[in-house]
Amino acid sequence: MEDAEPHLARPPLPGSTRVDVVIVGAGFTGLWTAYHLLRIQPGLKVAVLERETVGFGASGRNGSWCVPELNAGPGLLARRFGRGRALDLYRAMCDSVDEIGRTCEREVIGGFEKGGMMLVARGRGQLPALRSAHREYEEAGLGDAYRMLSTGEARGVLDVAELEGAIFSPNGASVHPGRLVVGLAAAVERLGGRIYEGTPVTAVVTGRQPAATTPFGKVSAEVVVPALEAYLTEMPDWHRSVLPIYSLIDLTEPLTEAQLESVNWRQRLCVSSMRLTVDYLALTPDRRILVGGRGAPYHFGSAIEAGAEGHSLTHRGLREMFREWFPPLAGLSFTHSWGGVLAMPRDWIPQVRLDRRSGLGLAFGYTGHGVATSCLAGRTLAELVTDRQTERTSLPIVGHRSPSWEPEPLRWLGVRYVQSQLSRLDQRAAQGGRPPSGRTLAERLAAH
Ligand SMILES: Cc1cc2nc3c(=O)[nH]c(=O)nc-3n(C[C@H](O)[C@H](O)[C@H](O)COP(=O)(O)OP(=O)(O)OC[C@H]3O[C@@H](n4cnc5c(N)ncnc54)[C@H](O)[C@@H]3O)c2cc1C
Repeated sequence: MEDAEPHLARPPLPGSTRVDVVIVGAGFTGLWTAYHLLRIQPGLKVAVLERETVGFGASGRNGSWCVPELNAGPGLLARRFGRGRALDLYRAMCDSVDEIGRTCEREVIGGFEKGGMMLVARGRGQLPALRSAHREYEEAGLGDAYRMLSTGEARGVLDVAELEGAIFSPNGASVHPGRLVVGLAAAVERLGGRIYEGTPVTAVVTGRQPAATTPFGKVSAEVVVPALEAYLTEMPDWHRSVLPIYSLIDLTEPLTEAQLESVNWRQRLCVSSMRLTVDYLALTPDRRILVGGRGAPYHFGSAIEAGAEGHSLTHRGLREMFREWFPPLAGLSFTHSWGGVLAMPRDWIPQVRLDRRSGLGLAFGYTGHGVATSCLAGRTLAELVTDRQTERTSLPIVGHRSPSWEPEPLRWLGVRYVQSQLSRLDQRAAQGGRPPSGRTLAERLAAH
């Protein structure tokens, strides 16, 4: 957010009022929903209530990947919804990436660059996972969009140490998350939407008189949309709907052209390895390298604690990992580190729903792929609310319901077990070149 537009605080809700749609949370989901509602139906009364400031959640903190991927892989989606519907979803996600690009241009937000996406196998221990991912893309009918590169070809795109192979897709882009969320909020206001900051919603009321309740008054509406992603867990009705998982990021100082050239980094490419514990790298518009990954432990009772964002072991691990990836850049210093919470549904599949009878609209469950998915979900929800039938309103995520996570203490025990086992399997693959079998209990529990 640091180099997004300077933040001018918006006042809190001045008192009780009535609108057509009240949205809780000014992240991407809430703002895309508001933006599309107002574009589809100018004059609609839309209010967005934000507890902190615009983009305070994951939307203002993410790793900038804007890709047509979901956390659920193409194989799982095809098995679940059929190959044709899974392909429809992939195409809609590709369009969502482009829609974000179009919006960045239309609303003069900038920061968007379609530099592609590359998955790399670092070390022989990651090769089986890379090959299996490619097989899945091919079987899903996406072989053309995800090309397997030889080691030589891959090094030409990005010279990563211990590279054993890569999959490249041109369908990925990078955004500037801070500029996007701030720019989107400004666009919503230009279209007539109202955004109130410093306005915590204490209850979401559904039924005959949908509303959002705050300490400053009640906003009644035809439809109420809790656009809260990981913070849904703080609302009693959705406490077990997702798992809040921390993702942490470290950012280098800006690189010179020569430094970027030393590793062949020529465009804003999104890169990730096949590590089970998830890593992701990207290049920012001011030419810094962003290194992100999971690893901070899950907190009992799905608690969201700001302190977890500074989990020093994970931040140290990310910086070491960066030096292993790019030995010629080992002398670079890191200037920023932060983290945030993302939301993982029990079956890895996001959902968009509108229940007219209770006046509840929902869009959530993107895990670490919410940049493009929230745009698709928000747009789809806006179309459902305004009674439009489009190629999006029949997608398989519409009306989908994921099962709830287990109650505590089972949830804590299970999640901590999976987290520790996956990191042990990663270490074994890195040190001994022994690939994960895919058959351990932890891998099967985490499979998607
Ligand atoms: C560190 C990190 C890196 C990530 N990297 C990527 C990436 O590279 N690519 C990708 O696609 N996805 C990534 N994600 C995921 C992506 O950022 C999210 O899925 C997406 O931003 C979710 O948007 P949202 O609007 O649904 O939720 P949020 O952005 O979390 O917005 C929810 C908002 O609700 C507000 N709120 C909470 N409680 C209340 C309340 N009671 N009353 C009023 N307001 C409330 C919060 O303050 C917040 O602003 C990442 C996530 C994290 C944390």
